[in-house]
Amino acid sequence: MDRLYKGIHKFQESYFKKEEEFFQRLSQEQKPDVLFITCADSRVDPNLVTQSSPGEIFIVRNVGNIVPPHDAIKDKNSVAAALEFAVFNLKVTDIIVCGHSNCGAMQMLYEDEQLLRRMPHVNEWLELSAPVRDFVLKYYSNTSEEIRQRVTEEENVLFQLQNIQTYPFVQEALKQGVLHLHGWYYNIGTGSIYYYNSSEDVFELIGEQSGKGNNIPE
Ligand SMILES: [Zn+2]
Repeated sequence: MDRLYKGIHKFQESYFKKEEEFFQRLSQEQKPDVLFITCADSRVDPNLVTQSSPGEIFIVRNVGNIVPPHDAIKDKNSVAAALEFAVFNLKVTDIIVCGHSNCGAMQMLYEDEQLLRRMPHVNEWLELSAPVRDFVLKYYSNTSEEIRQRVTEEENVLFQLQNIQTYPFVQEALKQGVLHLHGWYYNIGTGSIYYYNSSEDVFELIGEQSGKGNNIPE
């Protein structure tokens, strides 16, 4: 904890002081264009990897970057609340679902249910991504564990993009062309980020030239 307290002091004395005007402006309103849904993993930092500032991206993080489908967990669905807020209130133009390498949540999809007994909430939550595990076990049964893990992490991103599209207001915004969906995959060890190219059905490295036309068609 000491490191965090020292960090607060350092932030206030250096970064904040230099950017005080920026924070004053920011204190009046937020206008992010992007809703960024990613894992709670401590190694994933959306602002850092996109080099974006406070106020630029609206972030939702949870175990496994999961979006429960519409009506899956009724009204107490915090991801759905964030989706509604982002689309209706903030009017974001883009939603990114970003998975990552070495994702503990995706590894747990293959754990014995007995082992998850002490973590009933984790167990219940990860059940939302059970179709991903079933898909991978069906079509990638003869691959190494390493490949299975990577495929699970990528397929999970695509599955959540499908789930997002179960929300009527998202369908409507996509139809109107005011909202675009993106699937990303972050490799922690290399710093590389890949986007899902839906026409080729493949994750491609995001380079300097990337940026246009990589949204997922509805
Ligand atoms: Zn993760």
